[in-house]
Amino acid sequence: MTHSVKHHPSISLLELYCDGSLNAEVALLVATHLDYCPHCQQLCHDIEADLGGQLAESATGPSDLHATDWLEMMNRITATPQLPKAAPAPAPQSLLSIGGYQFELPRALRRIAGRRSKWLSMGGIATARLPSGEPHHASLLFIDKNTDVPLHTHQGLEMTLVLSGEMVDEHGRYVPGDLIINSPDDTHKPRNISDEPCLCLSVLSAPLQFKEGLTRWLNPLQRFFY
Ligand SMILES: [Zn+2]
Repeated sequence: MTHSVKHHPSISLLELYCDGSLNAEVALLVATHLDYCPHCQQLCHDIEADLGGQLAESATGPSDLHATDWLEMMNRITATPQLPKAAPAPAPQSLLSIGGYQFELPRALRRIAGRRSKWLSMGGIATARLPSGEPHHASLLFIDKNTDVPLHTHQGLEMTLVLSGEMVDEHGRYVPGDLIINSPDDTHKPRNISDEPCLCLSVLSAPLQFKEGLTRWLNPLQRFFY
């Protein structure tokens, strides 16, 4: 399969990723995109080189005070005691089985995928929550072949990264590595119209709001997806 990635994170998102200011869930999404995208890997190298240059400049600045602050900060960082280790982390897992299919996971997801919660299935769709902090929820999302996700809008940001297979919505067609960002203004109905199953990484900052069918039937869906 040689479809190339067309939907990339913005430069400002990559900059936030490189200087470490993204929350863990969005950082995981960007790191996973990088596993698929040599173009953004190169951009990150350049951004990191710039940041490194800036840091070196500020560390060797003319002000004594500044140099002292820098030294103090480094001392504090290196003096911080190591946190006691909690339960041993599960071994990284490179293959994931769901719906009778097996998917190869990108490097960035191999460790965290082993810590996912149980799969919840509804029709041809299944989700498994990954460890994540409020308000962001990160999950693996499986969409079986020829399956639709009900039409929905977003109360917050919905970020979806295709890991395997392909997906279409009103705005385009997405292949592995493609990052789809939907804001509260966007309404869409993602569909897997192919004969291959689709696996995605999904990060939500608020529950989805479903627009199709009877709202009371769809209420449980909100929790299912969030
Ligand atoms: Zn990219």
